[in-house]
Amino acid sequence: MSDLVRVREHAVALIAAHLDDTWTFDFDHAKRRAGQCDFTRRRITLSRYLTARYDDETNLQTLLHEVAHALAGPEEGHGARWKRIARSLGYRGGVTHRGETATELAPWVGVCPNGHIAYRHRRASRPTSCAKCSRSFDDRFLFVWKRREISPATRRLAVTPR
Ligand SMILES: [Zn+2]
Ligand SMILES: [Zn+2]
Repeated sequence: MSDLVRVREHAVALIAAHLDDTWTFDFDHAKRRAGQCDFTRRRITLSRYLTARYDDETNLQTLLHEVAHALAGPEEGHGARWKRIARSLGYRGGVTHRGETATELAPWVGVCPNGHIAYRHRRASRPTSCAKCSRSFDDRFLFVWKRREISPATRRLAVTPR
C-alpha cells in the first residue's frame, strides 16, 4: 500500500530532477497499466488504482520507466537508448510487462456451477449469477465466492508499466 500524496511528491521531484518544466505529473484512472508517458500532453501519469495497491519501491520503478520514455522520446519505444537511460536512472525492470493486473489483484474469486470464474475487489453484497450462463439474474447460476490472499510478490509481478 502506498500513500498517494507521498507518491505524487516523489513523482514531481523526480520529474523536476530529470525533465524540463513543460512536464507534469498526475494520476489517471487506468486499471490495467501502472503508468503512462503522454508525449502530446507532456505528462507522466500513474494509475491511482494500482499505485495505491503497490509498495513504494514498485511505484518508483514505474515512475523511472516512464521518465526514461520522456527522456528517450516518442520514437524510441523500449529500444537500446531507452534501456540505457532507464538503467542510468536506476530502473531494474524489464522491457516487457505482464498484461492484465486487475484480476491478479482481486481477492474475491467466484465460481459458477458450470465452472466459469469471476473476480471481485470487494465482497459481493448480494447474490450474483454468472453472466456467461445467463444474461439476466438466474439463481441456477450463482457464483460461490471465496477469498484468497494476495501476496506482495503477486502485487509486484502484476506491475505493468508501459
Ligand atoms: Zn457460468
Ligand atoms: Zn514502457
